[in-house]
Amino acid sequence: MAILDDLSGYEFEDLMEDVFRHLGYENVRVSARSADEGRDILMEEVVDGRRRAVVVECKHTDTVSRPVVQKLHSAVATYDYDGPKRGMVATTGRFTGPAREYAENLGANRDGGVALLDGSDLREIGDEIGMDLYNGRIEILCEETLRPTHPTAGRDAPVFEATQEVENLDPTRIPSPRTTVDLEPMVTVSTRTSATFETGVGVIHSLDETNDLVLHANRGHPRVAEGAVRELVANRSAPRIDLEETPLENRFDAVSRERYGQTETEYKEWAVDQIQQRQTTTVHYTGDNNVDYQKTCTPNRSDVSVLDIDSVYLPHVRSRLSLGEYAYAYEYYAAGPSRATTANDLHQCVHCGAVDGTHTYCENCGSINCEDHIKTERLEDEPICTGCAVTERFALKTKYFSDEENLETFRRRYDEMPIHKKARENVALAVGVVFASLFVAFILLSSAGVL
Ligand SMILES: [Zn+2]
Ligand SMILES: [Zn+2]
Repeated sequence: MAILDDLSGYEFEDLMEDVFRHLGYENVRVSARSADEGRDILMEEVVDGRRRAVVVECKHTDTVSRPVVQKLHSAVATYDYDGPKRGMVATTGRFTGPAREYAENLGANRDGGVALLDGSDLREIGDEIGMDLYNGRIEILCEETLRPTHPTAGRDAPVFEATQEVENLDPTRIPSPRTTVDLEPMVTVSTRTSATFETGVGVIHSLDETNDLVLHANRGHPRVAEGAVRELVANRSAPRIDLEETPLENRFDAVSRERYGQTETEYKEWAVDQIQQRQTTTVHYTGDNNVDYQKTCTPNRSDVSVLDIDSVYLPHVRSRLSLGEYAYAYEYYAAGPSRATTANDLHQCVHCGAVDGTHTYCENCGSINCEDHIKTERLEDEPICTGCAVTERFALKTKYFSDEENLETFRRRYDEMPIHKKARENVALAVGVVFASLFVAFILLSSAGVL
């Protein structure tokens, strides 16, 4: 395990913490033993329903001799734990004969015993749990993705559903969109924080919380996922599929998979840091002298234990729907029947970007329009947008036509209209004329003494 040789003792302990977690031990955490005696890994195993503590001493040295095993044996005996306990020494190197003999006499897996793991054991464990160890860190090898398609609806059902909310757009006449999927790396770090903050007046604050921190884990800095995206990933019952067994290339026009930008170890550390920041609070309390104090309570690194690290790809489905001269994006994160929309051009006016109100499709050019940018074609009585319409003013009012030909046809018709019909081309004007005429009649009649 050449890479382990490059690690510092601390890094080796952190790595072993992750290894034990992968092996299924519970409440795995690194903890300081006492002033000068370095750190131990503390964890638990459940044997026949009985919880047993395991205290692990990590030795990043070529050889480990008997005194190390002896010392751990007594540390286990004095370790404050309400239940059975045993010890374990893990080393990147090997154990001396007397060290092995001493451990054998204690019994490796007995209560109070000490088990030994040497470099070759660690190598085997690494292979067994499918961990790729490089630079002393655990690389994420993820082969699972949340299900990118709805279990019962077709691949493009979400796009068609979005088009149904657009007026004047006939779903049966929509072409198939081009739909691709990007598999985005996600990591969920589950932690438990147990911390008590004390001052002279006693306990002023305590924390006992579990957290699932969901991270976007692509290149660059990790980002905490919030809202609907977080819900998709944090939902443990969301259906997953094996990437090797189910090639997505058959179902999508293109598939891309982003790499995990960092190692599992780095995400873990980053997440714990986030948790520490989030759980930092300022507590106000009154001292014995009746003076008000405030204290900032930040949980220690060792107060936060990582319960589980889960990695999975989150499918980002991207559809491009071509309508006339326009292409519309409809994008969402998918997890089986659930999804979180990230882009929807179908509910946005192509002219002004308005997303509120009703949207109407212009069949003449393929645009989707807000209420301000959709008009009525004068000749055909169909919706037409202000972007592609040919316009001309009739009866002082702008009229919209799909092309010059329609305009010309209407022009001829207008010319042949009797005056009252022409006036009707501008309702406001026509109404105004009627009122004005009545008013004039009223003036004339009253001045003539009729009224
Ligand atoms: Zn608009
Ligand atoms: Zn148009």
